[in-house]
Amino acid sequence: MQKKDLDWKNLDFGYRVTDYRYVSNFKDGEWDDGVLTEDSFINISECAGILQYCQEVFEGLKAYEHADGSIVTFRPDLNAERMFGSALRMEMPPFPVDRFIDAVDQVVRANAAWVPPYGTGATLYIRPYMFASSNVIGVKPAQEYQFRVFVTPVGPYFKGGVKPISICVSDFDRAAPRGTGFIKAGLNYAMSLHANVTAHANGFDENMFLDPATRTFVEETGGANFLFVTKDGEIVTPHSDSILPSVTRRSLMYVAEHYLGLKTVERPVRYDELKDFVECGVCGTAAVICPVGRVVRGEEEILFPSGMEEMGPVTRKLYDTLTGIQYGTIEHAAPEGWIHRII
Ligand SMILES: *Cc1c(COP(=O)(O)O)cnc(C)c1O
Repeated sequence: MQKKDLDWKNLDFGYRVTDYRYVSNFKDGEWDDGVLTEDSFINISECAGILQYCQEVFEGLKAYEHADGSIVTFRPDLNAERMFGSALRMEMPPFPVDRFIDAVDQVVRANAAWVPPYGTGATLYIRPYMFASSNVIGVKPAQEYQFRVFVTPVGPYFKGGVKPISICVSDFDRAAPRGTGFIKAGLNYAMSLHANVTAHANGFDENMFLDPATRTFVEETGGANFLFVTKDGEIVTPHSDSILPSVTRRSLMYVAEHYLGLKTVERPVRYDELKDFVECGVCGTAAVICPVGRVVRGEEEILFPSGMEEMGPVTRKLYDTLTGIQYGTIEHAAPEGWIHRII
């Protein structure tokens, strides 16, 4: 197979149209068989439920090429299960888990020429999503839905190496208690844009959102979970019912415990504990883990001892181990079921 003629080492994190995508429609109470198509456009009614009341959920994962030319995804079953749960919360008919995994496999296989070659640092980003496709004007769930998967090759999230970022505590809230913070839905992002633009305008890379009810506990950023390292080398991640359960974070916690022999805990984390941690990182599929050097809340600033120049040593080990598993450089040691081979 001939790879596409792209400057693989200099790809940005953007959308590029590839050859095939998968489409399945839900109508009359059932999902149809689904097909691969070359048409990257969607033709829907002006009154489609997605356009009126934002009934949509999505996922994000990546395909990696290994040194031997094989192409794999990382724990796609967790994305399939998470989207199943997101759909239920949004009163949408969930797409079956096995069919989700199969659809992702089909699209990656059909676009193998777009999977960035091993060693370039680039990956194939995979975007499964589903939305209300039939007319909705009175507020209620739609009758018809469309599930799609497209892929796009992306460069590393942080070009020129990973530098610690500066984040601010947002004056806005991300997710209401008992709201939709724990599902992956576009609506959570739509309402976070104002907070993001505001943070960027003030010179910050990201927002830290606190629990809206009391504003004393740390939740997450707009699209990544937090990990903290204590001075005793313990890994702490915030527990809250309004945090999106990141596959990357869950995997890093496992890696910390089983590969690095570190103690891990998931528990509520008070904002006023932050000053006692020695490292901080945010994690998600796009960047794996990005070190945080500084957190600012109003006049007050917390500088983590790991500083603004490099990843802290524990964050670095977590990053190297997980990316080693994903790229197959330590594949023999990957936990059962983590690496899903497609080609
Ligand atoms: C997708 C997402 C994450 C990261 O999850 P991964 O499964 O690791 O990619 C974190 N927070 C939010 C709000 C997200 O939408």
